[in-house]
Amino acid sequence: MRIGCTWWRGWASVAVAVVAVVGGMASSARPAEAAGYRTANFLVDAPTEALARKIGDAAEQYRHTLALEWLGAPLPRWSRPCPIKAQVAPHLGAGGATSFVFDRGEVFNWTMTIQGSEERILDSVLPHEVTHTIFATHFRRPLPRWADEGACTTVEHPVERARQHRLLIEFLTTQRGIAFPDMFAMREYPADVLPLYAQGSSLARYLIDRGGRHTYVAFLTDGLASDDWSTALQRHYGVPSVAQMQSVWLDWVKQGCPAPPATIAAVAPATQSGWSPTTRGQSPDPVAAAPAPAAIAATPRRTSIYAMQARRTGTDPPP
Ligand SMILES: [Zn+2]
Repeated sequence: MRIGCTWWRGWASVAVAVVAVVGGMASSARPAEAAGYRTANFLVDAPTEALARKIGDAAEQYRHTLALEWLGAPLPRWSRPCPIKAQVAPHLGAGGATSFVFDRGEVFNWTMTIQGSEERILDSVLPHEVTHTIFATHFRRPLPRWADEGACTTVEHPVERARQHRLLIEFLTTQRGIAFPDMFAMREYPADVLPLYAQGSSLARYLIDRGGRHTYVAFLTDGLASDDWSTALQRHYGVPSVAQMQSVWLDWVKQGCPAPPATIAAVAPATQSGWSPTTRGQSPDPVAAAPAPAAIAATPRRTSIYAMQARRTGTDPPP
């Protein structure tokens, strides 16, 4: 179970936060300890040196490749590294939290905590949390929660995405769904947070399958600038309003989340650049056990991130 995600501490707390940054810089500038590892942009604290190295290298790799996927260009180096505190144990629930502070268009005071099995940290938690840092660096302002968490879930392992889908069906059938006009307006997590993740994940997938990741980022850029999400949906996805988006999306979920027609999917090449869909291990796709396998069973671009990870670490995802 994911234990939490990003927190930005808001504009009002900037003064306090900047003090915290100064205090934090001193500690993060200390030499790495036995279980520490420093890369260009991350400072990892993990139970063993080998794990710290693996996590740091993977974080750096994700930061590069996911920035290309989402933005089309790598991120510049951060002025201070993002500390990562990792708890790694075979049966630890997978989860992560990343926090930072926005101030006058800059991002400060990164902290990331992650936990889970080594495998799940490397194939789900880390790409999820690193995507939060990419979005924060790019947008430099808070995103609607559904769009942020939804996007981050799309880079997780298929097992995690299948879990979100199972939860989605449960929420939609037990009156825990969130009306889209409410969901689009949420800048904070609701008390009942899991439906937000499940719906955000599903809607992000729907949009990305149709327009690719670059269009998703362009859509968010427009919506943030105007705060007129209906116009942004119309412009980028041809859906005239947030309410209409809910209706289109619900119909799609009821149909089992079918892949878009090839002609539409072909318009979304941005997510496929540089990834090979054929290298993703020999083990059967774990998603096959999910309630709507055709739906979640990944299109090439949705497995590609894990293909890259498997190739890099020389391990395959679990069966
Ligand atoms: Zn998150």
